[in-house]
Amino acid sequence: MSMNLVTTLYLIASICFIQALKGLSHPTTSRRGNVYGMLGMGLAIVTTIGLIYKLSALSFGQGGATVGIGYVIVGLLVGGTAGSIMAKRVEMTKMPELVAFMHSMIGMAAVFIAIAAVVEPQSLGIVKQLGDSIPAGNRLELFLGAAIGAITFSGSVIAFGKLSGKYKFRLFQGAPVQFGGQHKLNLLLGLATLALGITFMLTGNLGAFALMLALAFVMGVLIIIPIGGADMPVVVSMLNSYSGWAAAGIGFSLNNSMLIIAGSLVGSSGAILSYIMCKAMNRSFFNVLLGGFGNTADAAGPAGSKEARPVKSGSADDATFLLTNADTVIIVPGYGLAVARAQHSLMELAEKLTHRGVTVKFAIHPVAGRMPGHMNVLLAEAEVPYEQVFEMDDINSEFGQTDVVLVLGANDVVNPAAKNDPKSPIAGMPILEAYKAKTVIVNKRSMASGYAGLDNELFYLDKTMMVFGDAKKVIEDMVKAVE
Ligand code: NDP
Repeated sequence: MSMNLVTTLYLIASICFIQALKGLSHPTTSRRGNVYGMLGMGLAIVTTIGLIYKLSALSFGQGGATVGIGYVIVGLLVGGTAGSIMAKRVEMTKMPELVAFMHSMIGMAAVFIAIAAVVEPQSLGIVKQLGDSIPAGNRLELFLGAAIGAITFSGSVIAFGKLSGKYKFRLFQGAPVQFGGQHKLNLLLGLATLALGITFMLTGNLGAFALMLALAFVMGVLIIIPIGGADMPVVVSMLNSYSGWAAAGIGFSLNNSMLIIAGSLVGSSGAILSYIMCKAMNRSFFNVLLGGFGNTADAAGPAGSKEARPVKSGSADDATFLLTNADTVIIVPGYGLAVARAQHSLMELAEKLTHRGVTVKFAIHPVAGRMPGHMNVLLAEAEVPYEQVFEMDDINSEFGQTDVVLVLGANDVVNPAAKNDPKSPIAGMPILEAYKAKTVIVNKRSMASGYAGLDNELFYLDKTMMVFGDAKKVIEDMVKAVE
């Protein structure tokens, strides 16, 4: 395989990745985007295997190269099989943990490659023979790739624990972990990591490189632990961006244009997504990058910490009566709808209401569910027409004139505390203004809190009727009642 062919194939793969990102920017084109992504990745893998074979054959002869490629293929088969099984088994609601796990793997891969390059630079073509010193420019790239990779790895492990919510370990709890002087410690660690990295760049000292890596691992943990509750979506997209930059840094060291381009695409698209998420959460991008939002976790007690307060509750039949007598209905889907897998029944309910002359719209909050675009995917799966689906900014002005809002398994994204309580941990986060509607119907199983662990005043309003039960069962009962 000639170098010209490698460059051309890498270029085609890069164009596929750009097309993939373009396609993924809208639900109607996202399938096509995924196909482009898979094509690009397939081409990149095959080309890289060809390149590795060519380079190994130059150093170790045909026999050595064949053995080397054998190892690579075994690795691909093991990793590919594990990845396929995980992807097949994962439930939609567990996707964020899987994504955090993937980010941790990318971070660790960058660290391993950097260590290999520092210890045996000749085998990666960075120097001609063992004993030659690595050029300062390459040492800088290795330092950056390894440091960002280490931060991405340990940060993603903490994010994985927080998102899964099933581990008792304190650092894996959803609530932020904060202590005095945390930001100063982070700053100190950041400066020490930088100083050690520069020392490694200038002197090639392996001790400085090892210590720098150790500090970067600790920093990853410290940056993520003070973030929790409703702010986790920003963490996921931020780590996504870090993983891309780690890959790009290593791509420079290995002189691999594909890794540089793919890493930069992931890094910059992750940064843009983090920015969009920050805007959606009304948080400062700078604070996110430094870790921790200055949460006031103690300001608003978690649900259940106060005495039980009375709420109005009704049956699915009562809710159906209100829905069928309304002219306009806005449906707010949330995480609970995904847990109940009730999207298809919901589509049936929406169709039946529309058939009876009710105008039905769906309102999507940017952080509803557990991953960016979660609700869009859920509704698309049930083939809800796109023209009925509205983003928060486009529909918020309509709640005031709406007869009934039907909140299904959503909680934090409709919590008025974000607007009314400056001490709340979600203060300032824009919400879907369901509380403005003439009547509110909320379906969930209990009075338990949502992801941010907060009580929700919406449930106690005079105009709110709670319908307790699993979303699927309740919606199916509503469908029967409409019939
Ligand atoms: P929430 O997590 O705030 O609330 C979901 C509600 O659904 C719960 O209160 C729960 O109450 C109810 N529920 C659970 N299972 C069922 C069921 N089977 N049937 C009916 N109801 C059910 O969800 P939102 O979508 O409102 O908000 C998302 C939250 O997740 C935000 O805080 C966001 O920041 C965070 N997050 C978002 C990510 C993203 O990228 N979108 C990533 C990580 C976190 P009950 O137990 O009483 O039924």
